[in-house]
Amino acid sequence: MTDAAAVQSVSVIGLGLMGSALARAFLAAGHNVTVWNRSAEKCQPLVQAGASAAASVEAAVEGSDVIAVCVLDYDSSDALLHTPEVEAALKGKILVQFTTGTPRQARDTESWAQLKGIHYLDAAIMAYPKSIGAPDCTILVSGPELIFAEHRALLGSLGGNVIFVGDPICMACTLETSLLSFYYAAALGFLQGAALCEAEGVEVNDFHSIAMELLPGIGDTIKVSTEMIQKGSYDGAEAAVTTHAAAIAHILQLTREAGVTPDLAECLSGLFEKTVSAGLGGRELPAVFESFRKRSIERTPIE
Ligand code: NAP
Repeated sequence: MTDAAAVQSVSVIGLGLMGSALARAFLAAGHNVTVWNRSAEKCQPLVQAGASAAASVEAAVEGSDVIAVCVLDYDSSDALLHTPEVEAALKGKILVQFTTGTPRQARDTESWAQLKGIHYLDAAIMAYPKSIGAPDCTILVSGPELIFAEHRALLGSLGGNVIFVGDPICMACTLETSLLSFYYAAALGFLQGAALCEAEGVEVNDFHSIAMELLPGIGDTIKVSTEMIQKGSYDGAEAAVTTHAAAIAHILQLTREAGVTPDLAECLSGLFEKTVSAGLGGRELPAVFESFRKRSIERTPIE
């Protein structure tokens, strides 16, 4: 299999919201698509759109060179794939795992795949189903680079921003989880702000407009944080951790006075208190990184 453009058959196992979107995007790109889902009725819309329905997981695997799996979790995926019949059918084929998992699960799957003679790529979808196939849809892929390169055209059917992130199989899901950590913290911060605005009679639309103007500032904080983490130094002259801690205390006070749930503000306050207690109160905001870090990693102490 050396010509990526020649790979025209793909099976999609799992037709939930995301798996169905993947199958539709493969169909839209002109590929031959075979589908299987535990609840067989979800195959019907895809069959009407041109896919073939397989009667079993084994038949779905036999139907194509590339097998895309997108089910709830790795336990569900393992239960489907770890049978002698399916393993035999997968031998020599390309398994692309779109199911969300952890680095350990990706490594375990890699060991299993190597044992069974299966080529394995791990993919992390950074988009909602509505964006699959769109130019700005980002999907991270890790695993053997040669296998990715051979199937870049097929995977490119799923979005304009399919990125190979590295050979270690855990790369895609580690980056995915880290990006989701950033996404959820930012989204919940916005929602807490919206609740504060509502409690004080400020229109959420006004809050949104100004928040959008501040987005470049968040980008700058991320850039500076990256530089400081790399240098291992949080010295600066913008605002000390103690100053940020006072701002957080103010947010906490307002949530309590306004009757808004203080859970997020309490969590932020705890992290800043921990950073101050570690003797980093005079450093810049990125010093809070020290409160998150894995303790067992050897590092030079901050002077
Ligand atoms: P979903 O709509 O809830 O679909 C779940 C799929 O998993 C269905 O096909 C379901 O089959 C199948 N499934 C569940 N348990 C199973 C089992 N024990 N055996 C066999 N099949 C089983 O979820 P989704 O949104 O498609 O998400 C699927 C994966 O994509 C997840 O890992 C999710 O984290 C990831 N993802 C989703 C999004 C998103 O925005 N939706 C974005 C990025 C990544 P039935 O139809 O028979 O129930």
